[in-house]
Amino acid sequence: MQKKADQKKTVLVVGGGVAGISAALDLAGNGHRVHLVERGHDLGGQVARLDKFYPTDHCAFCPLWTEIRRCKESEAIAVHTLARVESLEMREQGYRIAVVKSAPVVDPELCINCGRCEAACPKGVARPIWEHAYPPVYLIEGAHCGDCRSCVEVCPTKAIAFDREERPIELDADEVIWAAGFEEVSLEPLKEYGWGTHPDILTSLEFEAWKAEAGENRGKILRRSDRSVPRSILFVQCAGARDLRLLPHCSAVCCMHALKQAQWVKRRNPSIDCVILYTDLRAVGRDYYEYALRDFNGNGIRLVRGRSSLITPLPGGDGIAVKYEDTLAGTREIRRFDMVILNGNLRPSLASKPAPASRPELDGEGFVAPASVSCGFVMEPADVTESAIQAASAALRTITGKN
Ligand SMILES: Cc1cc2nc3c(=O)[nH]c(=O)nc-3n(C[C@H](O)[C@H](O)[C@H](O)COP(=O)(O)OP(=O)(O)OC[C@H]3O[C@@H](n4cnc5c(N)ncnc54)[C@H](O)[C@@H]3O)c2cc1C
Repeated sequence: MQKKADQKKTVLVVGGGVAGISAALDLAGNGHRVHLVERGHDLGGQVARLDKFYPTDHCAFCPLWTEIRRCKESEAIAVHTLARVESLEMREQGYRIAVVKSAPVVDPELCINCGRCEAACPKGVARPIWEHAYPPVYLIEGAHCGDCRSCVEVCPTKAIAFDREERPIELDADEVIWAAGFEEVSLEPLKEYGWGTHPDILTSLEFEAWKAEAGENRGKILRRSDRSVPRSILFVQCAGARDLRLLPHCSAVCCMHALKQAQWVKRRNPSIDCVILYTDLRAVGRDYYEYALRDFNGNGIRLVRGRSSLITPLPGGDGIAVKYEDTLAGTREIRRFDMVILNGNLRPSLASKPAPASRPELDGEGFVAPASVSCGFVMEPADVTESAIQAASAALRTITGKN
């Protein structure tokens, strides 16, 4: 049946990152109803965990915070957090969606963020979800905890329980938008990157959290191994990306966030030597290129064109040896660094290819999406600006029925 553009619809948006949030707000603003389903504890996706934001260098989360709040306060948007979509049944008109609500140890509806559980926990398992969470609540991961139950005793609102069970719910929607974002792929199979062999070899997401102003180090740049100040940091680009053994595609955002991370290291501690080992610098567009030019123009960060062939901890563990080729100078180098940040191992969370089956379900790698609209990183590796643009387009296509 041909759907009319002015027909009010109910839309399922899978994923509450910047793309899902933007799509949901656009749909609600045009009079449609939305089920926004997010498997995590809160909306925001990866951006909620970022430190600073390129190209503006502002706090990454602050602008998103307002949008999260608008979603939660909108009468047209039903926000389902801690919820994952299990299956979609395509019907003659729309979809029946099976969702499972997970059972957190701390009920976010009851938690008042008083911190008594954290003080009582002998294993340090009870902690605030993250600094930015709105409303702020605590998280206790049952799997990592003993069975003392001190937290249950001290909780004044009875928010903590270890025997809650997952709950299935069913939703109906006319349309589906996939905004399930990205995830890191383990670099362990590519042994030459040395990931997992030394605490000071981190992925870019790990480093983003480690150096965050809102994180445990309050913005200080420290080694993970002994919490001393590193003398040198190497950023390795295309680690796992543009590599037929892991991810054939370019992850698109990594050149920019490596430049961002190196610039923030320098701002916070100019004495740290920063080197970016890149294949080709993908800083597309005027603003982004200007951002990169700061480094070419003597910002104290050295850009070396080349690829590493081996990253390995030095005997005794104090430092990391890196063997690489400088393809502009035509030399082979071996150098010691205090920290190595690996960039590139990002892939879409869900397969977004249209499936012919009328009842798509989870396959081995994630979802096989039905013939629906997608946006954000799940559709194409994309930064925040690009994800928001795609979300606007996805909402419009859903509203008009024109793909
Ligand atoms: C280290 C690093 C630094 C970055 N820095 C910047 C920067 O400074 N500026 C910039 O513009 N971009 C930056 N980016 C890119 C930015 O993170 C992405 O552009 C952005 O997160 C994409 O948003 P998204 O909504 O598509 O995906 P995500 O942020 O990944 O959100 C997707 C959401 O979907 C949820 N989800 C997944 N599957 C399901 C499911 N089955 N059911 C329910 N929910 C599900 C996830 O839990 C997640 O919350 C950076 C990326 C990295 C890795």
